[in-house]
Amino acid sequence: MVSKVVFGRGSFNQLEDILAPNRKGRNAPFIYYVDDVFKGNHWLTSRIRLSYKDKIIYVPTKEEPKTSQIDKYVEDIILEFSELPSGIIGVGGGIVMDIAKAVSLMLTNKGESKDYQGWDKIKHPGIYHVGIPTISGTGAEVSRTTILTGPERKLGINSDYTPFDQVVLDPELTKGVPKNQWFYTGMDCYVHCIESLNGTYLNAFSQSYGEKALSLCKEIFLEDNLTKEEAQDKLMMASWHGGMSIAYSQVGVAHAMSYGLGYLLGVKHGIGNCIVFDHLEEYYPKGVALFKEMKQKHNIELPQGICANLSQQEFDKMIDVALSLEPLWENAIGKHWQTEITREKLTDLYKKM
Ligand code: NAD
Ligand code: ZN
Repeated sequence: MVSKVVFGRGSFNQLEDILAPNRKGRNAPFIYYVDDVFKGNHWLTSRIRLSYKDKIIYVPTKEEPKTSQIDKYVEDIILEFSELPSGIIGVGGGIVMDIAKAVSLMLTNKGESKDYQGWDKIKHPGIYHVGIPTISGTGAEVSRTTILTGPERKLGINSDYTPFDQVVLDPELTKGVPKNQWFYTGMDCYVHCIESLNGTYLNAFSQSYGEKALSLCKEIFLEDNLTKEEAQDKLMMASWHGGMSIAYSQVGVAHAMSYGLGYLLGVKHGIGNCIVFDHLEEYYPKGVALFKEMKQKHNIELPQGICANLSQQEFDKMIDVALSLEPLWENAIGKHWQTEITREKLTDLYKKM
C-alpha cells in the first residue's frame, strides 16, 4: 500500500515541505516527470521549487508508456547525475504516474524494464517516489502496478515495491481536464468497480472499497446535486477506492480486451475500456446498462468501427494479447474460463467495436 498520503484542495502547496526531509544531498536531485499539458502553466509549475540539481522533465502523453521509453529515462538520469536521485515525482495522469513508478524501480533493479513485466519480478525497493495525480480514475496513484507496453506484451510491473511512498491528492489540480477525457478516465474507475464486484476473486476487502467507489461514481456521473468542486473531490476518492478494490482482486473482460486494442491500435486505456465495455452486456448486464445511461447523460459519442478493416492476422494479435491475461479471465469467468472464452467469441466481440 501507499505509505503516506495527504488529501485536500491546495495540498500541492505542501510539496516542498513533504520532500525536504527526503533529500539525500546536493548531488542527489529530485526528478519531476510532469505531463506536458502543464508546460507553460505557471499556476502549477511555479509551485515546483527546484534546488541544486533538481530537474523537470515534461512527458508527452499522446501514447502510453513503453518499456524502451522507461529504459531511456533511466539511462539519461544515470548519465547526467553522479548520484542516484533523492526522489522521483510524477505529476499528471495515469501515464505519468506509471512512468514515475517504473523509473523509480528501474534505477535500482538492473537490466531492462521489459524483463520485469509480470508479477513480483522486482527484487529491490525503488527510489523514493511520489505520485501527484492531475486527473482522476485510473487508480494508478494507489495501485501496485505500472502498466507498460513492451516488445512482446502490454503488461504491468506488479510488485510490492511499485506503490508510491507518498501521494498528494489535490483535487484542484484536475480542474482543467477536458470533458471527454474526464469521462473516459472516470469510466476507467467505474469499470474497475464493476469488474471487481462481479468477479470470482471478490472478497470483503475488495468489496468494501469497490462498493464505495461505485456509489461515488453513480453520484458523480448520474446525479445533478454536486458542485464542480465536490465532484472533483469525490472522483479523486472514487479513483482511490476503485484502485484499492482491484488491488486485492482483479479486473476483467473489458480490461483484457482493451489491452488488445491498446497493443495493436494504440487505443488509450480509458477510451479503450469504454469502447469495449459498451459491448459487454453478456458479462456485465447491469453495469453496461448504467454505463449507457452515463454516456447518454454526458453526450459522449464513442468511436465506432475501429476494427472494421482489420485482417485476420491483426485480430489474432489482439486476441493473443487479451488471452494472455489469464488472471483477468479467471476473475471474470471462473477457473474454467477457457471453455467459454474462445478465439471465435473474441473475434465476434472485436468485430462489433
Ligand atoms: P493520461 O495519463 O493519458 O491523461 C489523459 C489526458 O489528460 C492527457 O492528454 C493529459 O495530458 C490530460 N490531462 C491530465 N491531467 C490534466 C489536467 N489537469 N488538465 C488538462 N489535461 C490533463 O490518461 P489516464 O486515463 O489518466 O491514464 C491512462 C494510463 O494509465 C494508461 O497508460 C494506463 O495503462 C494507465 N493505467 C495504469 C493503472 C495502474 O494501476 N498503474 C491503472 C489504470 C490505467
Ligand atoms: Zn483500468
